[in-house]
Amino acid sequence: MKYALVTGGSRGIGRLCCTKLAELGYNILINYKGNQAAAQETADAVATHQVKAELLQFDVADKNEVTQVLGGWMDAHKEDIIEVLVNNAGIRQDTLMMSMTDSQWSDVLNTSLQGMYNVTKTVLNPMLMNRYGRIINMVSLSGLKGTPGQVNYSAAKAGMIGATKALAQEIAKRNITVNAIAPGFVKTDMTEELNEKDLAKMVPMQRFGEAEEVADLVQFLASKKSSYITGQVISINGGLYS
Ligand code: NAP
Repeated sequence: MKYALVTGGSRGIGRLCCTKLAELGYNILINYKGNQAAAQETADAVATHQVKAELLQFDVADKNEVTQVLGGWMDAHKEDIIEVLVNNAGIRQDTLMMSMTDSQWSDVLNTSLQGMYNVTKTVLNPMLMNRYGRIINMVSLSGLKGTPGQVNYSAAKAGMIGATKALAQEIAKRNITVNAIAPGFVKTDMTEELNEKDLAKMVPMQRFGEAEEVADLVQFLASKKSSYITGQVISINGGLYS
């Protein structure tokens, strides 16, 4: 059976990615860190598409947990293949560099950048043997432009962009594409405490994006229709930055 794995699939953009990939007919592995109730809500939404939804709780930043839980799932499902991976799990802990703590730096880097490495490394070899796959990395406008107050987050996302471009070239001949999506402001828990009314004035489209708009792009990049696109960073930001 064919599976798509979405890290951070319990809420926000990740939840919508799960349902959009279910629309493509994939069974969905929903990773989450701690919010089981939210992950179950995603699973219920996925199940309405007549595909399987399975919850996989692990911290993407913890290589041992990734190996145990995700590696364990793969060992128990030798006949199944993870064909699509969306590295979506991410956190932000914004502060100016001058007052940033070591853990604010490392937590943000470890979740986005190290998390992408931990999960991708675990699923990559079977994907290479399958000679087909789609890897989609959720980055950010901050990783392209750099955002003051987000030195940690900008560095994490810029690192993911470099890894996306390099890995895409390594595995293109195996028919595996690797792309990044760079959203601007999107309405989720992550942006809940921002002043949407004021910040939206900076956006040419005068509004924040919806998680579904990002997930529609994920669906396209995960589909066969995107077969000649690899190593790209695609912005989705209402015209805020290009
Ligand atoms: P969100 O609503 O805050 O959801 C975050 C998701 O990531 C949750 O499912 C959470 O799981 C999971 N997660 C966090 N740390 C994790 C870890 N260590 N291991 C496994 N899962 C973890 O975030 P979002 O706004 O949907 O953002 C999704 C991605 O888009 C992130 O990479 C973010 O940086 C990026 N992005 C967002 C925006 C935006 O405006 N929202 C803009 C640009 C880029 P639990 O539910 O278990 O906590």
